[in-house]
Amino acid sequence: MNEPTKSTVVIDDTTLRDGEQTAGVVFSRDEKVRIARTLDAIGVGEIECGIPAMGAEERADVRALVDLGLAARLITWNRAVISDIRASIDAGVAAVDISLSVSDIHIEHKLRRNRAWVIEQLKTALGFAKEHGLYVCVGGEDASRADMEFLVELMEVARSLGADRFRFCDTLGILDPFATFDKVSFLRRRVDLDLEVHTHDDLGMATANAIAGIRAGARFVNTTVNGLGERAGNAALEEVVMALRYACGTDPRIDTSRFVELSRYVGEASCRPVPEWKSVVGERVFSHESGLHADGVIKNPLNYEGFDPAEVGLTRHLVLGKHSGSHGLMARLRLLGIEIDRGRAEQMMPQVRMLARRLKRPLEDAELLGLWHGPRRVA
Ligand SMILES: [Zn+2]
Repeated sequence: MNEPTKSTVVIDDTTLRDGEQTAGVVFSRDEKVRIARTLDAIGVGEIECGIPAMGAEERADVRALVDLGLAARLITWNRAVISDIRASIDAGVAAVDISLSVSDIHIEHKLRRNRAWVIEQLKTALGFAKEHGLYVCVGGEDASRADMEFLVELMEVARSLGADRFRFCDTLGILDPFATFDKVSFLRRRVDLDLEVHTHDDLGMATANAIAGIRAGARFVNTTVNGLGERAGNAALEEVVMALRYACGTDPRIDTSRFVELSRYVGEASCRPVPEWKSVVGERVFSHESGLHADGVIKNPLNYEGFDPAEVGLTRHLVLGKHSGSHGLMARLRLLGIEIDRGRAEQMMPQVRMLARRLKRPLEDAELLGLWHGPRRVA
């Protein structure tokens, strides 16, 4: 991959790892290839593409992705054990995430070990990976609940042994953006090692926390297409990128025009269809119905749209329904080749509202034309 300048945020998309880890989601090799190719083509810097230790099939999938010769760096997920890292080397990748549980609750109640044992695991696994010339991200599982001084100690060991970055994981999705900012800032100040944020959406804050982590100095961020991922999911690629562009004013250098295409494809392949109201890529998020909003958008889309829908591959819908006004009706009829004046439009609005109320939805063009022709026939 092109090594980014220090200030550039690197997207590490994990649709093919944490995304596939979602209960019930399985991608075929062809699907993985298409998703990886698209992520690469739109400029995603890194793709977390699987867990080679899972077995021969998974290794062959990863190998197939390596063979594509993408510009994006491919990284795999590994426990901090040599056999996992060996499996990644066998699959042909040059970068690994080595994951360790770092919170006391995980260390005591999941691993049934102690902090010293975790440090020893790190030294052994990292030492082995570095001997084999791998790029290494050290992943701190459950870092959001870990003792911060222990994280500093662990990161210091990682840095001194040549790790390339540390992944701060809010594994349970229990942080808010303020706490994320504080914790990432603290680590940034204390250890000279690149940071990555890995966030989950259990409280609906995965994207907000990812952005907070970046603003606190993390240079890498984990995303998934549509926010797919364990439980409530991860930070959505499309949300993080658009938030960076429009909320933070930084250019993540991603071709966003294929977001909808990618989102629909991953929705299909994961059997998790994209809701129409999904932020950034939902089919209906650029629908305007209320009189005031539709009128504003007709005058200038910037009145009620934070960005042009075409930027992500969507189209704008001016919806005619219960909350519409006469300007919206005139504009919609104009698209159907019918010019009417304001007075006639105002006369027609009660019928539009009544029908929309009865149908409990906006009007289709045919229904609108029915209304238009209907009264004229009886008049
Ligand atoms: Zn995760």
